Amino acid sequence: MQITQMIEAVQKKLKIQVDGKAGAETWGAIYAAIVKPTIGGVAPHLAISKVDERSEKHIATLLPEVQPIARALVQKAAANGINIKIISGLRTYAEQDALYAKGRTAPGPKVTNARGGYSNHNFGIAFDIGVFSGTSYLPESPKYKAVGVLGMDLGLEWGGNWTSIVDQPHFQLRPVWAAAMKERDMLAEFRSRVAGSQPLFA
Ligand SMILES: [Zn+2]
Repeated sequence: MQITQMIEAVQKKLKIQVDGKAGAETWGAIYAAIVKPTIGGVAPHLAISKVDERSEKHIATLLPEVQPIARALVQKAAANGINIKIISGLRTYAEQDALYAKGRTAPGPKVTNARGGYSNHNFGIAFDIGVFSGTSYLPESPKYKAVGVLGMDLGLEWGGNWTSIVDQPHFQLRPVWAAAMKERDMLAEFRSRVAGSQPLFA
Protein backbone atom coordinates (compact mmCIF):
# COMPACT_ATOMS: atom_id res chain seq x y z
CA MET A 1 0.00 0.00 0.00
CA GLN A 2 1.18 3.49 -0.75
CA ILE A 3 1.00 6.32 1.77
CA THR A 4 -1.30 8.29 -0.56
CA GLN A 5 -3.76 5.38 -0.68
CA MET A 6 -3.65 5.20 3.09
CA ILE A 7 -4.48 8.90 3.45
CA GLU A 8 -7.25 8.59 0.84
CA ALA A 9 -8.79 5.65 2.73
CA VAL A 10 -8.75 7.67 5.97
CA GLN A 11 -10.34 10.65 4.18
CA LYS A 12 -13.05 8.42 2.72
CA LYS A 13 -13.80 6.97 6.14
CA LEU A 14 -13.94 10.48 7.65
CA LYS A 15 -16.28 11.60 4.85
CA ILE A 16 -14.12 14.56 3.84
CA GLN A 17 -12.64 15.51 0.47
CA VAL A 18 -10.45 12.69 -0.86
CA ASP A 19 -7.20 14.08 -2.27
CA GLY A 20 -4.53 11.92 -0.63
CA LYS A 21 -2.90 14.92 1.05
CA ALA A 22 -2.92 15.12 4.82
CA GLY A 23 -3.60 18.84 5.25
CA ALA A 24 -5.43 20.92 7.83
CA GLU A 25 -8.88 19.50 7.01
CA THR A 26 -7.70 15.89 7.28
CA TRP A 27 -5.89 16.45 10.55
CA GLY A 28 -8.88 18.39 11.87
CA ALA A 29 -11.18 15.47 11.03
CA ILE A 30 -8.82 12.93 12.62
CA TYR A 31 -8.59 15.12 15.71
CA ALA A 32 -12.39 15.41 15.79
CA ALA A 33 -12.79 11.64 15.46
CA ILE A 34 -10.38 10.56 18.14
CA VAL A 35 -9.84 13.54 20.46
CA LYS A 36 -12.58 16.18 20.44
CA PRO A 37 -15.31 16.77 17.86
CA THR A 38 -15.19 20.55 18.19
CA ILE A 39 -13.10 23.23 19.85
CA GLY A 40 -15.12 26.16 21.08
CA GLY A 41 -18.01 24.96 18.94
CA VAL A 42 -16.16 24.89 15.61
CA ALA A 43 -14.48 22.11 13.65
CA PRO A 44 -10.87 21.59 14.78
CA HIS A 45 -9.27 22.68 11.50
CA LEU A 46 -11.16 25.97 11.76
CA ALA A 47 -9.90 26.36 15.32
CA ILE A 48 -6.25 26.57 14.23
CA SER A 49 -5.00 29.67 16.03
CA LYS A 50 -4.55 32.95 14.28
CA VAL A 51 -1.01 34.07 13.53
CA ASP A 52 0.64 37.50 13.37
CA GLU A 53 -1.35 40.56 12.37
CA ARG A 54 0.40 41.20 9.06
CA SER A 55 -0.19 37.61 7.90
CA GLU A 56 -3.79 37.66 9.07
CA LYS A 57 -4.49 40.75 6.95
CA HIS A 58 -3.65 38.72 3.84
CA ILE A 59 -5.11 35.43 5.11
CA ALA A 60 -8.46 37.22 5.43
CA THR A 61 -8.48 37.72 1.63
CA LEU A 62 -8.16 33.97 0.92
CA LEU A 63 -10.96 31.45 0.43
CA PRO A 64 -12.17 29.97 3.76
CA GLU A 65 -10.80 26.55 2.74
CA VAL A 66 -7.31 27.99 2.28
CA GLN A 67 -7.12 30.10 5.45
CA PRO A 68 -6.42 27.30 7.98
CA ILE A 69 -3.65 25.88 5.81
CA ALA A 70 -1.95 29.26 5.46
CA ARG A 71 -2.01 29.58 9.26
CA ALA A 72 -0.75 26.02 9.65
CA LEU A 73 2.20 26.80 7.38
CA VAL A 74 3.20 29.86 9.44
CA GLN A 75 2.98 27.76 12.61
CA LYS A 76 4.83 24.80 11.14
CA ALA A 77 7.65 27.04 9.90
CA ALA A 78 7.94 28.63 13.36
CA ALA A 79 8.12 25.16 14.93
CA ASN A 80 11.06 24.53 12.59
CA GLY A 81 12.76 27.76 13.65
CA ILE A 82 11.80 29.72 10.53
CA ASN A 83 10.02 33.04 10.88
CA ILE A 84 7.65 33.58 7.95
CA LYS A 85 4.74 35.90 7.28
CA ILE A 86 2.09 35.82 4.59
CA ILE A 87 2.83 38.96 2.59
CA SER A 88 0.39 38.61 -0.31
CA GLY A 89 -2.98 36.96 -0.87
CA LEU A 90 -5.88 37.79 -3.16
CA ARG A 91 -5.35 40.24 -6.01
CA THR A 92 -8.21 41.70 -8.02
CA TYR A 93 -8.10 41.44 -11.81
CA ALA A 94 -7.28 45.18 -11.89
CA GLU A 95 -4.39 44.76 -9.44
CA GLN A 96 -3.12 41.84 -11.52
CA ASP A 97 -3.33 43.94 -14.72
CA ALA A 98 -1.28 46.67 -13.02
CA LEU A 99 1.42 44.11 -12.15
CA TYR A 100 1.33 42.71 -15.69
CA ALA A 101 1.91 46.23 -17.06
CA LYS A 102 5.27 46.48 -15.24
CA GLY A 103 8.07 45.99 -17.71
CA ARG A 104 5.59 46.21 -20.60
CA THR A 105 3.63 49.46 -20.68
CA ALA A 106 4.82 50.65 -17.26
CA PRO A 107 8.40 51.21 -16.02
CA GLY A 108 10.49 48.60 -14.21
CA PRO A 109 11.29 44.94 -14.83
CA LYS A 110 8.64 42.35 -15.66
CA VAL A 111 7.24 40.74 -12.53
CA THR A 112 4.57 38.41 -13.90
CA ASN A 113 3.38 36.70 -17.06
CA ALA A 114 -0.21 36.65 -15.85
CA ARG A 115 -2.86 39.19 -16.81
CA GLY A 116 -5.98 39.76 -14.69
CA GLY A 117 -7.88 36.47 -14.36
CA TYR A 118 -4.82 34.41 -15.29
CA SER A 119 -3.14 34.21 -11.89
CA ASN A 120 -4.06 31.87 -9.06
CA HIS A 121 -3.84 34.95 -6.84
CA ASN A 122 -7.03 36.25 -8.48
CA PHE A 123 -9.14 33.49 -6.93
CA GLY A 124 -8.10 33.34 -3.27
CA ILE A 125 -6.29 30.00 -3.47
CA ALA A 126 -2.74 31.42 -3.60
CA PHE A 127 -0.51 33.31 -1.21
CA ASP A 128 3.12 34.39 -1.01
CA ILE A 129 5.31 34.17 2.05
CA GLY A 130 8.28 36.22 3.19
CA VAL A 131 11.07 34.80 5.32
CA PHE A 132 12.08 37.17 8.12
CA SER A 133 15.10 37.46 10.33
CA GLY A 134 13.83 39.39 13.32
CA THR A 135 11.98 42.24 11.70
CA SER A 136 13.91 42.24 8.44
CA TYR A 137 12.45 40.66 5.34
CA LEU A 138 14.81 38.35 3.46
CA PRO A 139 13.96 38.35 -0.26
CA GLU A 140 16.34 35.43 -0.74
CA SER A 141 17.21 32.69 1.71
CA PRO A 142 17.75 28.93 1.60
CA LYS A 143 14.92 28.82 4.13
CA TYR A 144 12.36 29.30 1.32
CA LYS A 145 13.18 25.78 0.16
CA ALA A 146 12.69 24.38 3.64
CA VAL A 147 9.30 26.10 3.90
CA GLY A 148 8.40 24.71 0.46
CA VAL A 149 8.83 21.19 1.78
CA LEU A 150 6.69 22.00 4.85
CA GLY A 151 3.97 23.43 2.60
CA MET A 152 3.87 20.38 0.33
CA ASP A 153 3.53 18.28 3.44
CA LEU A 154 0.35 20.24 4.23
CA GLY A 155 -1.04 19.51 0.77
CA LEU A 156 -0.09 22.85 -0.77
CA GLU A 157 1.42 23.27 -4.22
CA TRP A 158 4.73 25.10 -4.07
CA GLY A 159 5.93 27.59 -6.70
CA GLY A 160 9.49 26.39 -6.12
CA ASN A 161 8.60 23.28 -8.15
CA TRP A 162 7.53 25.26 -11.19
CA THR A 163 9.72 25.04 -14.23
CA SER A 164 8.71 28.10 -16.27
CA ILE A 165 9.02 30.74 -13.56
CA VAL A 166 10.41 29.35 -10.30
CA ASP A 167 8.52 31.16 -7.54
CA GLN A 168 9.77 29.97 -4.15
CA PRO A 169 7.60 32.30 -1.99
CA HIS A 170 4.41 31.08 -3.71
CA PHE A 171 1.95 28.50 -2.39
CA GLN A 172 -1.52 27.50 -3.55
CA LEU A 173 -4.24 25.06 -2.61
CA ARG A 174 -5.74 23.27 -5.59
CA PRO A 175 -9.45 22.40 -5.26
CA VAL A 176 -10.27 18.71 -5.59
CA TRP A 177 -12.23 19.38 -8.82
CA ALA A 178 -8.96 20.58 -10.40
CA ALA A 179 -6.83 17.64 -9.22
CA ALA A 180 -6.15 16.30 -12.70
CA MET A 181 -6.37 19.61 -14.57
CA LYS A 182 -3.66 21.57 -16.28
CA GLU A 183 -3.02 24.93 -14.67
CA ARG A 184 -4.51 26.87 -17.59
CA ASP A 185 -7.69 24.76 -17.58
CA MET A 186 -8.10 25.29 -13.84
CA LEU A 187 -7.71 29.06 -14.33
CA ALA A 188 -10.29 29.02 -17.15
CA GLU A 189 -12.74 27.19 -14.87
CA PHE A 190 -12.08 29.72 -12.10
CA ARG A 191 -12.78 32.62 -14.49
CA SER A 192 -16.03 31.06 -15.60
CA ARG A 193 -17.08 30.41 -11.99
CA VAL A 194 -16.30 34.04 -11.08
CA ALA A 195 -18.29 35.24 -14.09
CA GLY A 196 -21.21 33.01 -13.08
CA SER A 197 -20.95 33.85 -9.34
CA GLN A 198 -20.50 30.14 -8.58
CA PRO A 199 -18.61 28.73 -5.58
CA LEU A 200 -14.89 28.59 -6.38
CA PHE A 201 -13.70 25.74 -4.22
CA ALA A 202 -16.60 23.31 -3.73
ZN1 LIG B 1 2.37 34.05 -5.68
